[in-house]
Amino acid sequence: MEIKENKKSWKSGRILVTRSSLPPLEEYVDEIRDLWESHWITNMGAKHEELREALRAYLGAEHLELFTNGHMAIELSLQAMELPEGSEVITTPFTFASTTHAIVRNGLQPVFCDIDPETFVLDPAGIDALITDRTAAILPVHVYGNLCDVDAIGQIAQKYGLKVIYDAAHAFGEEYRGHQIGEFGDASCFSFHATKVYNTIEGGAVAYRDESFGRLLYRLKNFGIRDAETVDGIGANAKMNEFCAAMGLCNLRHLPEKLKSRKEAAERYRERLEGVPGLRLLKPKDGLKQNYAYFPVVFNEKEFGATRNDVFAALDRAGIGARKYFYPLTSSYTCYQGRFDPGQTPVALHISKRVLTLPLYADMDPRDIDRICSVVLSCGTERKTHG
Ligand SMILES: *Cc1c(COP(=O)(O)O)cnc(C)c1O
Repeated sequence: MEIKENKKSWKSGRILVTRSSLPPLEEYVDEIRDLWESHWITNMGAKHEELREALRAYLGAEHLELFTNGHMAIELSLQAMELPEGSEVITTPFTFASTTHAIVRNGLQPVFCDIDPETFVLDPAGIDALITDRTAAILPVHVYGNLCDVDAIGQIAQKYGLKVIYDAAHAFGEEYRGHQIGEFGDASCFSFHATKVYNTIEGGAVAYRDESFGRLLYRLKNFGIRDAETVDGIGANAKMNEFCAAMGLCNLRHLPEKLKSRKEAAERYRERLEGVPGLRLLKPKDGLKQNYAYFPVVFNEKEFGATRNDVFAALDRAGIGARKYFYPLTSSYTCYQGRFDPGQTPVALHISKRVLTLPLYADMDPRDIDRICSVVLSCGTERKTHG
């Protein structure tokens, strides 16, 4: 349904919230040409191995495994941690469905910690109070590419002997104080979905440290097969195929220019929206080299004079697709009805009702940004004036 609407929107010239980066067609065709010689199109072929090493180096990871998507990267990382059945995992409800589902689908119990109102990531000050003798891991999310408080989380994990798995689906391409983004926690899971900063059409990866975890992780993405006659893990099928790996090799070459283009778009938004009463923009972590994955705006209806939903509707009427990202909280999903209390994370609940992410992608027409901002500002009572 959504896909059909998107197709229609693309034809009607609507501005969508995101647009997938693609390499020049000839470059991709050249990249996949070898596959017609080898006839090896999946199961850890040559492109897979080349991409794995390129991304390992790019992310500063000790080790790296590729996946068919970001969700399976998270779900199988949790499984490969071999946490005791029914253990608790401290996480955020202000995220995409995948994070919470990955915990529940492993038979683990999500325990929701609130977020920081300015950075939108897990507030480490809330973690201590949630720890019980059943807590086994922390699964924080680098929401919108804003880095979690990796130092504080690392200290808490060490103090209580917990595993840390980062949902780094939004954080590809970033650096923090001389550290690459694949260096944090026991594992960091990335998504290379078409809508992300960097894509392999669909794809994902786990950057990790421990080799025995890695061996199990590798088997789990291939049905738990150890060798031709031994299957010793209850695995899934989550391998990245050669066509996706080839797309990844091409897109990686163009990444620097795409990041630069995103930065320009985000700065143009910021120039037009920063300082407008009632609008709050993302506060990036000090020392973070950002990837400009999303442009979230939090609307304070009293000060701004319009609600998030008013602005969403006005943009929609103007042919602009913004996204209520993340609304609702995962703890409010229909499938979890009666199971969690969203009121336990009041900051996350407050923000999810007021946030909108505006369209942002590489090679965006600056005039589109200006038009989007003027629609947003026209909803408010007080308008920022520009010379
Ligand atoms: C996109 C995303 C995922 C899942 O990645 P897929 O590659 O789409 O499976 C997980 N977590 C977050 C926060 C995401 O945005």
